[in-house]
Amino acid sequence: MTVLEHSEMNSSETVPRGRAWIELNLNALRHNTEYLQSLLPRRCALMPVVKANAYGHGAGPITRELNAMGIQAFCVACVSEGIELRRRNITGEILVLGYTHPDQFPLLDKYALTQTAVDHAHALALSAYACSVSRSNLPPLPVHIAVDTGMHRLGEPAENISRIREIFSLPGLRITGMYTHLAASGGSDAASRNFTERQINSFYNIKKNLGNILPSYTRLHLQASYGILRYPLADVDCARPGIALYGLLSNADDTHALAAGLYPVLSLRARVAAVHRLAPGESAGYDMAYTATRPTVIATVTIGYADGLPRILSHGKGELLLCGQRVPIVGRICMDQLLADVTALPTVHPGATATLIGEDGGVSISAAELADACGTITNELLSCLGLRLERLAL
Ligand SMILES: *Cc1c(COP(=O)(O)O)cnc(C)c1O
Repeated sequence: MTVLEHSEMNSSETVPRGRAWIELNLNALRHNTEYLQSLLPRRCALMPVVKANAYGHGAGPITRELNAMGIQAFCVACVSEGIELRRRNITGEILVLGYTHPDQFPLLDKYALTQTAVDHAHALALSAYACSVSRSNLPPLPVHIAVDTGMHRLGEPAENISRIREIFSLPGLRITGMYTHLAASGGSDAASRNFTERQINSFYNIKKNLGNILPSYTRLHLQASYGILRYPLADVDCARPGIALYGLLSNADDTHALAAGLYPVLSLRARVAAVHRLAPGESAGYDMAYTATRPTVIATVTIGYADGLPRILSHGKGELLLCGQRVPIVGRICMDQLLADVTALPTVHPGATATLIGEDGGVSISAAELADACGTITNELLSCLGLRLERLAL
């Protein structure tokens, strides 16, 4: 086992597991990548979305593995995430999906990042920068144009065809891509399908309208994870899978229905630090929020909300695995620790490994189950996993 993240530790150094850590199943990552690719037409390339530290998994180990598999394009949310990948020597195109302020445009050059023009005005600003004297001997700035086909988040409105056309002729820019984002591709109901098909057709229409203005090097893309699974045959050049690459979808129902071919990449584990025996009437944790009603054994586990484990899982709402069994989280989850009722497990001892997400002795807790219990989606749960968790590749 190798520690792949956590400061600048040498990746060949083997390190024992600490207080709380993430295990990455890179076989699952490779499988998911190949599986998603197999659903798409052969010419459609994956541009994995590795924003938010690769959905909490660790952008370093995830992108290094994908690069080794031959993936040569990535999507991030912001310039700082792109810089982080370049500092890790990740090669290929790195597309910044979000807005970048003109003050940061020089970083696009410095770190060879591709910026999204979030609308016509942003494209003008990018062009003005690209033509400034300070970068006069640099090649054109690579840009993908975002087109708004109905989500109304980012993108030049699809109906402004003349403005979209104009962006292609702006000096200093090389339009290496044009894309839209589907707002309802996760829904299986008729309204969602109709909305999505209107978005896709609206995007195709732009392509038709541009005709031979569209350079052959401009790659078109529109699907994220749900789009790949529900609309795999869209006529585009790339796709942008995020959550599916990590082996799940946003909730447990969708994961069961749509993600049968995918395997979870991440497990989340922590140590038992101490075991306490409580008599009836004794309480444990903050605010006496938990009081034993029978002779009870409580284990202190070394993970808390500062590691990204939502505090809403307190008071028995969440469970964890110890010795291949589910036990409830009791009392209030603390910043760095939590308490579990292990009365049913006589052999639990300090140093034992607890599993918050993943499998132990044939029993498992999925990230989707945990996200459902928190009233959120896997995307949020995973992307909030903290930086002090070690990332270990298996
Ligand atoms: C986050 C994001 C994605 C990936 O979404 P998933 O649903 O996780 O696959 C793709 N495209 C854009 C524009 C995004 O912001």
